[in-house]
Amino acid sequence: MAFELPPLPYDKSALEPHISARTLEFHHGKHHAAYVNNLNGLIKDTDLADKPLEDIILAAAKDLPAKQGLFNNAAQVWNHTFFWNCMKKNGGGKPSGKVLAKIESDLGGFDKFIEDFRSAATTQFGSGWAWLVLENGKLKITKTGNADLPLAHGQKALLTVDVWEHAYYLDYQNRRIDFVQAFIDNLIDWEFVEKNLG
Ligand code: MN
Repeated sequence: MAFELPPLPYDKSALEPHISARTLEFHHGKHHAAYVNNLNGLIKDTDLADKPLEDIILAAAKDLPAKQGLFNNAAQVWNHTFFWNCMKKNGGGKPSGKVLAKIESDLGGFDKFIEDFRSAATTQFGSGWAWLVLENGKLKITKTGNADLPLAHGQKALLTVDVWEHAYYLDYQNRRIDFVQAFIDNLIDWEFVEKNLG
């Protein structure tokens, strides 16, 4: 069974004006789709062909750098599907309940979380991702380069923002900080984060 490109969980124009339909056309329809196609090509007729995506990522992670191409494409399939679900129309702002309480106890308050998450996203040099993760039961803000992801480091992903240039260049050109701020203020789906927190 080959992997398929999952549909976006909202209409292509749902995140405008913060992320344009044109950006999603390319980001989902071209970039994410290419990772899915590459992954299918790399696992075809191998013993990983019928494995769940997470198993493929972990198997490739144990065999680096030999399996770098497989790791990159499998992880990017996972990262993008997760990223689409981290956003919704009229999202962003401050969470409530369990997520807010956990941010306050583990990360020094919501304002500190915003500051540190924005800093992780804007200081990731080159392509990568900023994350809110759960590590040994505690929240942590991290950043990863290229395709790397929390799963490969024994962490559970709760929230991410894609800071590859392809995520924002059409809408923001080089202004990554404006894209990250728009993500924080208008796009984060805190209900999804709460679901991931479990
Ligand atoms: Mn991307």
